[in-house]
Amino acid sequence: MPGTIAGAAAGVAALGLVAGGFAYASLWPTSQIFGRTLIAGRDSGQIALTFDDGPNDAATPQLLEALARHGVRATFFEMGSFARQRPEIAREVVAAGHLLGNHTMSHPRLSIEPAARVLQELRDCNAVLEDITGAAVRYFRPPFGARRPYVLRAARELGLTPVMWNVTGYDWDPIGVEGILTNLERGIARNRGRGRGSNLLLHDGGHRGMGVTRMDTVRAVDRLLTEQAGTVTRFVTVDAWK
Ligand SMILES: [Zn+2]
Repeated sequence: MPGTIAGAAAGVAALGLVAGGFAYASLWPTSQIFGRTLIAGRDSGQIALTFDDGPNDAATPQLLEALARHGVRATFFEMGSFARQRPEIAREVVAAGHLLGNHTMSHPRLSIEPAARVLQELRDCNAVLEDITGAAVRYFRPPFGARRPYVLRAARELGLTPVMWNVTGYDWDPIGVEGILTNLERGIARNRGRGRGSNLLLHDGGHRGMGVTRMDTVRAVDRLLTEQAGTVTRFVTVDAWK
């Protein structure tokens, strides 16, 4: 019976997870084992710049300026609590043509939270962002990249597509502009070698509080955009990949 075979396969998969793959599967950004998430398309010329943990008055306005200078649109996964503190910045992000996504209200590790809290975090963030901008929110990035089946299910219940990434800037480490830029360039080259677009994880804020310095990120982005100008690269927002 197909049901029995599927059940057996699920049992084997569960054993594998118990044996140590669980943390890997729930945290590794490109793992699809807990359900499909949006990462990138098959056009290797496409790059999505994505920024988490804003809005942040110490970096988001400067970042918006840099993006405007290069005529590039990006995706911002904002925290509801910060958007409520700085609604005018969230409004500017949308007014400039960038895509705004949900990054929960308060940045909890959703994979260890009860299902009701997960739903509440997503719903409250949506309400704040939609109230500020008047536009429906359609995309969601889980804090720390942590996801479990019920996290993805809660997101989908609210009409949110979960979005991961395939290039990590590691811009939360003190690695400077060069370090961030090197991480981005390596990741983009690796994805191109595989015939994949690149979805870049960067931060214009810090989830622990408003006002975190992210100017190295802003400068690294400015450098990347300068380098890529006039090449085959096309910067897209994640909705290009649906
Ligand atoms: Zn975050």
